Amino acid sequence: MINVALAGNANCGKTTLFNALTGANQFVGNWPGVTVEKKSGRLKKHKDVVIQDLPGIYSLSPYSPEEVVSRRYLIDGRPDVIVNVIDGTNLERNLYLTLQLMETGLPIICAVNMVDLLKKQGKRINLKKMEYLLGVPVIGISALKKTNLDVLIDMMIEEKHKEYSFPKYDDRLESALSMIEDQLRGVVSDEDLRFYAIKFFEQDDDVWGNVALDSTRRSEIEELIKTAEKVFGDETGSIVANARYDFIARIVDMSIVNEKDFVMTASDYVDMVVTNRILALPIFVLVMWLVYYISIQTIGGAGSDWVNDVLFGELVPDTATALLKSWHVASWMQGLIIDGIIGGVGAVLGFVPQIAVLFLCLGILEDCGYMARVAFVMDRIFHRFNLSGKSFIPLLI
Ligand code: GDP
Ligand code: MG
Repeated sequence: MINVALAGNANCGKTTLFNALTGANQFVGNWPGVTVEKKSGRLKKHKDVVIQDLPGIYSLSPYSPEEVVSRRYLIDGRPDVIVNVIDGTNLERNLYLTLQLMETGLPIICAVNMVDLLKKQGKRINLKKMEYLLGVPVIGISALKKTNLDVLIDMMIEEKHKEYSFPKYDDRLESALSMIEDQLRGVVSDEDLRFYAIKFFEQDDDVWGNVALDSTRRSEIEELIKTAEKVFGDETGSIVANARYDFIARIVDMSIVNEKDFVMTASDYVDMVVTNRILALPIFVLVMWLVYYISIQTIGGAGSDWVNDVLFGELVPDTATALLKSWHVASWMQGLIIDGIIGGVGAVLGFVPQIAVLFLCLGILEDCGYMARVAFVMDRIFHRFNLSGKSFIPLLI
């Protein structure tokens, strides 16, 4: 006979999995003393495997009847294996219970449910990595689509999951816990030491009220708790909760893969081409030729031609000449104003249209990000002269 306990948060798909595994072989009752429904059943094809459906819970603290019955069942009933159903779309929230289940030291299999939904959301969980980080078997299932359930059943029966090391928390917390374990040795069974040490440390009412511990040991533990609260500057309950959250954050960080991170956007493709080892330089030359063509040859050039030939070639000098003549200005003065001032200023202003269009083009290239790419590409060449890739802009101008 193998006793399997199904544990998980509310709405993680426990009932769906329970029904898929047991079919009609179900027994419904109540947990002793409380109105919490108790459901158990036998596996469809392996009648010697009994599955106990635990109430949906978020933690193993004794705050609700559901938590109390689940915890009693696990600690006193010692099932052969816990199947922890995890809603894969809410990994972070669900793992909080997982860590607490692991703290009991019972054999455990993590069944990450709703893999079908994950796929739709474009997310993937690296189950192998999660398994490595947690140190317990992890399998992806879909209770609704009945994916991988046969593998899960094999895992329950094989019981390859007997041993694992407890999730390791902050060093200071670990040393406090091991000192509490020393006080508890002989009072609770060795396999439960870790669980009770954490619960004593968390100042769990149920444990402090029900474990038969003499007053010397009690006051030793109380001292330890006082010291820890001083060291951490926090309540012991929060110290443990924070340690669990840190542990979970590491797992979530390392094992959730967002497919969107791997999708190439249009900008990525452009990047790939314009910074390509072989194509980058020809493209750069082409772009710069275009800039030159637009600003010097065509649009800018036409503007400059007009300024040089029409504005300062005819319009301004002719008007000025007529004006100066009508005022009877001395001819040397006329020469100074028309050939000197107007001609000189005109020669400089003639470049304005070309430069304006050149800067407009460079501005567009800057805004669309090409300049940054060019600086990156040019870095390879300019580096040899101890210059950064950005130096090409003054050089170009
Ligand atoms: P429980 O509260 O843990 O017993 O969760 P339920 O079994 O009642 O499931 C909660 C909801 O999740 C229901 O609407 C199920 O249909 C849905 N659900 C359960 N398993 C899966 C799954 O593998 N994939 C998807 N897409 N939905 C699921
Ligand atoms: Mg349910």
